[in-house]
Amino acid sequence: MARRKVSIIGAGNVGATAAYYIAEKVIADIVMVDVIEGVTQAKALDFLHAGPLRRYDVSIRGTGDFSAVADSDVVVVTAGVPRRPGMDRMDLLKVNAGIVKSAAKSIALYAPNSTVIVVSNPLDVMCHVALRTTGFAVRRVIGMAGILDSTRFRYFVAQELRCALTDVHAMVLGGHGDQMVPLPRFTTVAGIPITQLLDQATIERLVDRTRKGGAEIVAYLKTGSAYYAPAASVAEMVEAVVTDRKTLAPCAAYLRGEYGIENLFIGVPVLLGKNGIERIVELDLDESEMALLRESAEAVKKGVDELDTFFEVR
Ligand code: NAD
Repeated sequence: MARRKVSIIGAGNVGATAAYYIAEKVIADIVMVDVIEGVTQAKALDFLHAGPLRRYDVSIRGTGDFSAVADSDVVVVTAGVPRRPGMDRMDLLKVNAGIVKSAAKSIALYAPNSTVIVVSNPLDVMCHVALRTTGFAVRRVIGMAGILDSTRFRYFVAQELRCALTDVHAMVLGGHGDQMVPLPRFTTVAGIPITQLLDQATIERLVDRTRKGGAEIVAYLKTGSAYYAPAASVAEMVEAVVTDRKTLAPCAAYLRGEYGIENLFIGVPVLLGKNGIERIVELDLDESEMALLRESAEAVKKGVDELDTFFEVR
């Protein structure tokens, strides 16, 4: 079998940690591209030196040359400026849109058959930048957010119930921001909805902590934002695509009428495989869940509209 190749544009905290997780699971050969070239080369060499001990035999290259993404199966875009305390995700929009746009141009030029996983924030809006700039099929541009938000929810539920982490599955839809939509009815422990295991007040507390999960870490770090769980979420998506695993998980997908939402990236359950998003699953949401998703979509749409006023993205 031909070796699989994953490129990561932006080898900072999230990008380099994702490279580490991908190498450890021997998922694919890795290229890290960053404007800080020397540091990226150093990180790649350092990873390679650890290979004999950690028993991963993949190729890892760090470079400032964007043409190195050629022939990638997947390109991950983590280039950008991280959120800082007091900084709204929307504050990041202007600067990160320019960075993601230039990354997307390189992807379209050098890796026209790849699947793109967008990580840079504000996530849902950056997905629009990547889609419009690459001109790729909508199912081949995917945003990472829901897997991260739901792994946080899974952790909080497991901690509350003192049960095995792996028994908990969670569903968090909507935009990646304060208006994400954790769904307790679709969050289960060994198939049992948490609505049957926890009282309403406890669920609301866990939902609130999930919504503020990113901000909680930003407040401790002071400079920068979370990266271990985000990188693990990236690795999960990369693995699903390159190994055609058909993983069902929430990701930001471009909706064309699903959930009554048109022409917008928003987090929904999707099936991930070698063709990117292979299916969008439409859950039977009740009225209040649907209202929350619509509100979240409105917030994302506002960001996309703001983007259009800053940038000519087409
Ligand atoms: P970081 O500052 O550690 O890394 C960003 C990297 O991007 C840096 O190494 C920087 O040199 C590089 N970069 C900047 N401009 C570039 C360009 N034009 N081309 C290539 N590389 C470029 O930040 P981080 O903590 O790794 O976060 C990266 C991005 O991911 C941020 O936008 C952050 O907000 C976002 N993020 C998203 C999620 C999510 O759930 N979607 C989670 C965590 C972080």
